[in-house]
Amino acid sequence: MKNIILFGPPAAGKGTQAKILQDTLKIPQLSTGDMLRAEVTAGSDLGKKAKNIMDSGGLVSDEIIIGMIENRLKKPDCNNGALFDGFPRTKAQAEALDSMLAKIGRKIDLVIDMQVNDDELIARSAKRFSEDTAAGRPTRKDDNPEVFPGRLKVYREQTLPVLAYYKNTAPEKVRNVDGMKNIDEVTKQIKSSIN
Ligand code: AMP
Repeated sequence: MKNIILFGPPAAGKGTQAKILQDTLKIPQLSTGDMLRAEVTAGSDLGKKAKNIMDSGGLVSDEIIIGMIENRLKKPDCNNGALFDGFPRTKAQAEALDSMLAKIGRKIDLVIDMQVNDDELIARSAKRFSEDTAAGRPTRKDDNPEVFPGRLKVYREQTLPVLAYYKNTAPEKVRNVDGMKNIDEVTKQIKSSIN
């Protein structure tokens, strides 16, 4: 049983690492960003509520996000744990996660803090934006170079307190990973901090 949080700023590589790790660890990636984008594509009421907020780089309400995770955790593929990607993003979400896990006799085992500097994050998001454009794929409006710096600000103001929360309540669970390295190197670092 492993419940692992991949923590870090937008475009740090959390999704990339979660996709690699879910196969080796046999626990699913729970990406709230992917779940929300699926709702937007499906045109659901939730998707309609979330779309403008997401496009502008803001955070969707804690209530919506917590409800989504609560439902997802009930699915049998989460019986051995989960890799949380892009969640929790506020202190209220972190507290809600702790209490929903406690109710089912579980807890967070590890918080992987992926450290990447702002220049690299801006370069990575711009690359994702231009590659999507070049390939004719729909671009993520929130990767637009005009929107992305705002997401870094939201991260610093609303999401960094999540790291402080875990450092205060469970410092032994927090591991630093140098997210500036290439994909394979980062995977290796994460795997060695899990074992
Ligand atoms: P991501 O794919 O994780 O970068 O998420 C894309 C966007 O979805 C974010 O910029 C937010 O607008 C929204 N979002 C994803 N996860 C959360 C969350 N845990 N709390 C609030 N909003 C979220």
